[in-house]
Amino acid sequence: MTIKNIPIPIFPLFPSPKCRYCNKTSTRHKVSTGNTNIIANKGRPYYICEVCNGVSSSGWVSWDDKIGIHVSNPACDCGVVSRRDTAGAGTKMGKGNKFFTCAWGGCGFFRAVPNVLEVDTTLPSS
Ligand SMILES: [Zn+2]
Ligand SMILES: [Zn+2]
Repeated sequence: MTIKNIPIPIFPLFPSPKCRYCNKTSTRHKVSTGNTNIIANKGRPYYICEVCNGVSSSGWVSWDDKIGIHVSNPACDCGVVSRRDTAGAGTKMGKGNKFFTCAWGGCGFFRAVPNVLEVDTTLPSS
């Protein structure tokens, strides 16, 4: 398996990323203990667009940490290493499913992580 030399985003992001829907600067938050839906992510910093929140989208922009970012992840449309994330309850994908997404909210990159990746990526030799 070849690991391509894709740039890795630096966290925490500075300045705050802009919302890709309305181009307004997003707001930094931390996952609170009150949100049981994402309890596993407690304390993680993230960005939300206050303008889009609950209007045209959930307002979600990005996490602001390196969790799930590995050099072996595919590049997103920004040309940087994507983030491997886990779907929460109530999402279209279903809770616990893994996917790749833009690491910093700069594009709409989305790719489901195939289950085979979890087991073995070695091709059998014939
Ligand atoms: Zn927005
Ligand atoms: Zn991107």
